[in-house]
Amino acid sequence: MDIIHSQDSLIIRFINVKYSDLLIISKYCFKVSVDDGELWYHTLTRELIYLSNKELNSIYSDKELNNYLQDHLFLIDNSFNEKKFVDEIKSFLNLVNKTNKGIKQFIILPTTACNARCYYCYELGRKKVSMDLKTALDVAKYIIDNAQGKIEIEWFGGEPLCNTEAIDVICKELNKNNINYSSIMVSNAYLFDEILVKKAKTDWNLKLIQITIDGSEKIYNKTKSFIYKDINAYQRVLDNIELLSKEDIRVEIRLNMDNSNVDDLNELVDLLRDRFVEYKNINIYTVLLRDFGFNINEFENKDLALDAYENLQNKLFKMGYGTKKYINNKIQVNQCMADCDESIVILPDGRLGKCEHESEDNLIGSIYSDKKDLNMLNAWKETIEIDYCKECLFYPDCIKLKKCAWNKDGCDEYSRKEMTINLKLKLLNEFHNFMEKEN
Ligand code: SF4
Ligand code: SF4
Repeated sequence: MDIIHSQDSLIIRFINVKYSDLLIISKYCFKVSVDDGELWYHTLTRELIYLSNKELNSIYSDKELNNYLQDHLFLIDNSFNEKKFVDEIKSFLNLVNKTNKGIKQFIILPTTACNARCYYCYELGRKKVSMDLKTALDVAKYIIDNAQGKIEIEWFGGEPLCNTEAIDVICKELNKNNINYSSIMVSNAYLFDEILVKKAKTDWNLKLIQITIDGSEKIYNKTKSFIYKDINAYQRVLDNIELLSKEDIRVEIRLNMDNSNVDDLNELVDLLRDRFVEYKNINIYTVLLRDFGFNINEFENKDLALDAYENLQNKLFKMGYGTKKYINNKIQVNQCMADCDESIVILPDGRLGKCEHESEDNLIGSIYSDKKDLNMLNAWKETIEIDYCKECLFYPDCIKLKKCAWNKDGCDEYSRKEMTINLKLKLLNEFHNFMEKEN
């Protein structure tokens, strides 16, 4: 047996095993077949182990192995109430996390305007507002007054590069006041050039950027429909990805998939791999577009969508890309910024929100007032609970927010299938890394 990822040190303190002969495999144990054996992952303890086929045949007869699997909750007494045990740990973690640690992540929208016109954009039809320079100064002051320790700034939009003046003002103030920060950005990257990339690196402290590419040249240019004419946006953005990568800014290329571009994305990843093979700080991953009330090209059914998604993720994984997410070392206590007390979203006019995708509704206050809408803050923390949760593999680590647009259909079999695909890739990533180190 090999331990690929150890169990959560906090969870270990709760475990008090009563050894038994009436053993069953934990419902929180997820198995993935690999060469000559299986990976076993426990969604509560986060331990990942590799068992050879020989060991798999002796989990009940090999005393030492059997004790290990009991000690680590892979095997449990069949009367043990696992869900109750998980609920106790979750309540404890919620109590521990109530302490106010201040704000560590500021998600700033310098503008809600954009220079592209993607057909699937959820922001189509929303008001376009850009942060003026006086508000940018006020935002910087708000950050200086509220930041705790090292902070992260995420530039979001709209297209953040459509208002670099506001970014400059905010960063200049933070630099002047010695605020310890780094930044990340979600951008189409069209407006970068050599000078702006250097500025992003030195003045904005930009460490990572997420850029969406929706297809190869023809499809990309048609999908993005940039407002500029007679320019090959696809080539320009690829050149900019190279500039960013050369400046040591990590690039996450996101491939938005719907029924219209599956085959093209498969070709695109080959093109991207060939173009960027020497850049180790570029990753490529895919997501399925969802119908949030805007126009996407839906698959005939959800099974076909998940198959296409899994196939592309697998292809990326074999190329050394794909989800680079590994197992979290700590049990998850938040879904995202929306239910995290350490994150805040700042809109172009200084209003405050919790979700970067909500620029008009469900807001919680303003940088100009100390008062926050506590009802709204609490509403962002409400989670989905359905009957199936009692038996679900993901229960120990699952937080699905009711207000999140991603969960607008609640939790169905397909959302769990998607989670299963993602978890399997994370585990294979860990295993792959482990094997590389071993060899
Ligand atoms: S919300 Fe869905 S994924 Fe989460 S524990 Fe419940 S059934 Fe599982
Ligand atoms: S869309 Fe959902 S996951 Fe994304 S920030 Fe908003 S609440 Fe969180």
